[in-house]
Amino acid sequence: MLKTIERLLFPEFCYICGRDKTDDFVVCGECGQNLHYFDNSIGMSAHRDESMPVFIDRMNAVFIYDKHIRKLFYQYKSMGKKHVADYFLDQILKQIDFSLYDIDFISFVPLHWTKKIKRGFNQSQLIAKKLGLILNVENVNFLIKNRTTKAQKDVNFADRHINAIGSYSIFRSKAHLLKDVSILLVDDVFTTGATLNECARIFKKNGVKNVFSLTVGITNDKK
Ligand SMILES: [Zn+2]
Repeated sequence: MLKTIERLLFPEFCYICGRDKTDDFVVCGECGQNLHYFDNSIGMSAHRDESMPVFIDRMNAVFIYDKHIRKLFYQYKSMGKKHVADYFLDQILKQIDFSLYDIDFISFVPLHWTKKIKRGFNQSQLIAKKLGLILNVENVNFLIKNRTTKAQKDVNFADRHINAIGSYSIFRSKAHLLKDVSILLVDDVFTTGATLNECARIFKKNGVKNVFSLTVGITNDKK
């Protein structure tokens, strides 16, 4: 019986190369070795578009978003393999030194409700929730996505911040919590930073002192 449960919880194949495997991890040892990590010591390069004001005080990311990590995200987001979140969390804790931060709240980039219903869960919210439990920091859903926008991946880099502007706001009932606090804002992938920057702008407008971003992936693309 226990074996059956384990089989349900853990994949029998590597989510990157697809080969059979017997251990409990979502990627095989070989694929795990070949993943590329972002260098968090470079810190403040919070966005790629220099015409855009920066509202993120410090960014953090785990993996360079390459074709291997893309496969892992496919299993996580499109195939609904939620246990990939635990692998991501493990890697987040290995790569990022949270003792550097004084964080009052963890939050995340919301999906529009129609998209959340379609996918069944918010991939960033799940990571934020698990991270909050480990760091003992309250995870709060502060942001609401007002309108459906084109997926950022379908918009030119130059137009992404325009696409993001005005699409998020703060839940009025929670706005009073935001004065002079520091927030760790979680999203899945940092591309131009337009979405995270827009969310950070809204937080700052509502009195937040610091916004630190955390993404699992970051692209190597330059504008
Ligand atoms: Zn593999």
